[in-house]
Amino acid sequence: MFKELESLSPNITPGRNERLGVVFHHSILSFGETIATMSKRENIVSYHCLIDADGTRCQLALDDTIAHHAGVSVFKGREGCNRFMLGCSFAGDTYKEPLTDAQLKSMLEWLEPRWTRYGWSIEWMTDHRTVAPDRKDDLKPEEWSRVHAAIAKRFGA
Ligand SMILES: [Zn+2]
Repeated sequence: MFKELESLSPNITPGRNERLGVVFHHSILSFGETIATMSKRENIVSYHCLIDADGTRCQLALDDTIAHHAGVSVFKGREGCNRFMLGCSFAGDTYKEPLTDAQLKSMLEWLEPRWTRYGWSIEWMTDHRTVAPDRKDDLKPEEWSRVHAAIAKRFGA
């Protein structure tokens, strides 16, 4: 089991997240810098989960809250992913450093209890680049392929 911290961000919108799936991101910043950024209200950003290179996770928003991770976005024909998707981010920049094995294992560990609880399926796993294609480039396509393959292997296609 990887260590999990909690540092709840003030940057959430009132309402209940429908929790239909997950949008994956990278945060560019380091683990500590990302947590510090998300603790400040003026930055208006938050993920539900952030994963460091060593697999340590930080919960920044509770699953049933609407966090500010996807912005203007569309998935499965529906706008505003923040209302119905959780945001899970890897610390760092996947264009500069590939995801570590610990990050991938920790991501699966985070998904595990939620997969059955929320009735998730692989079709509802996506990344920021896919839901905001002209605006965002995370994850690097090769790294998103690794994430997707790890999820498919663990939970089935
Ligand atoms: Zn992103």
